[in-house]
Amino acid sequence: MTSIPNPRLDRPPTPTVAPTPGIRFIRDIYAEHGSQGRPVLSFEFFPPKTPKGDVALFERTLPALDVLRPDFYSVTYGAGGSTRDKTLAIVDRIQREHGTTTMAHLTCISTSRSDIERYLSEARDRGIRNILALRGDPPLESSDEQFERGFEYSYQLVEFISKMEGFSIGTAGFPESHIACTEGRHVDWQRLKAKLDRGADFVLTQLFFDNDDYFAFRDYLVDTLGVTVPITPGILPILNTGQIKRFTALCGATLPTALASKLDSYGDDADAVADFGIELASRQCEALLAGGAPGLHFYSLNKAHAATQIVGNLGLRD
Ligand SMILES: Cc1cc2nc3c(=O)[nH]c(=O)nc-3n(C[C@H](O)[C@H](O)[C@H](O)COP(=O)(O)OP(=O)(O)OC[C@H]3O[C@@H](n4cnc5c(N)ncnc54)[C@H](O)[C@@H]3O)c2cc1C
Repeated sequence: MTSIPNPRLDRPPTPTVAPTPGIRFIRDIYAEHGSQGRPVLSFEFFPPKTPKGDVALFERTLPALDVLRPDFYSVTYGAGGSTRDKTLAIVDRIQREHGTTTMAHLTCISTSRSDIERYLSEARDRGIRNILALRGDPPLESSDEQFERGFEYSYQLVEFISKMEGFSIGTAGFPESHIACTEGRHVDWQRLKAKLDRGADFVLTQLFFDNDDYFAFRDYLVDTLGVTVPITPGILPILNTGQIKRFTALCGATLPTALASKLDSYGDDADAVADFGIELASRQCEALLAGGAPGLHFYSLNKAHAATQIVGNLGLRD
């Protein structure tokens, strides 16, 4: 795959609005921590569907995670724009009330360019400086017409955002290859390189349970493709057997047979599953950091308990 000059290296970003105090470009956070050998800690939320969920996120989860002094938070985006306004409102509120850099996710599938442009303009007006640029999953019934209105792949979204300036851009990476890629993992990873060549500053990975998958992915990107941006593992602590089986089936991550059997052996004992999941994730994170991972991105599922325990087990915060 040909290498394209990274437009972001040629010119400094020029935000059109005064930056909110304390809110930073995530690429700068990684650069600073990297030079000091400190891992970057981040936590991902989804926009709650109910007022009760909002209360739980803002009154319980965020205060508990703030104690860990996260380097950034991120908020997901419902494919097709279903959480458009909510994603931006939550990111804005976290940044204003908690003073922590927060990234808005954005998917481009089945979305027009003008809608994407509006979202990004609004994000910039709200002082949001970081976007995770994604394709999203196609609706079950999609048509060529939908693709014509916007972008087919996320590298096109990355390029579009990069030209708008004023954002640090993250992108998704898949240590086991993307579920829909039929050409093999190296082809999928070369496509990730294309996103970085178009201006993405860092990679957050899909969940995985075998660290060898992450290291093979990272080593191919770095040693074979010459990637220099941070490649941060995405961590999902197992808290519920049925839930992790559903999630892995949906996203194509492997739930190793021995791990599935171990979870099954706990039966309905939810506390035992959660204790085991937290211990497993702690050991996984420990080995990832020891192997040079630049940080940890936790899929929090809007809860603080597991991440707090894991960060405590790792001794990453006082
Ligand atoms: C950290 C993280 C956060 C996420 N957050 C969200 C979220 O907030 N909302 C949401 O809806 N989803 C989210 N997702 C899921 C993501 O949208 C899906 O996994 C989606 O299917 C792929 O998105 P992508 O940006 O990697 O797509 P792409 O990079 O576009 O890749 C998608 C597929 O197309 C293939 N491909 C890429 N380029 C080409 C090309 N030039 N020619 C042919 N094939 C190509 C790739 O190999 C891959 O199979 C997230 C995933 C991760 C890892």
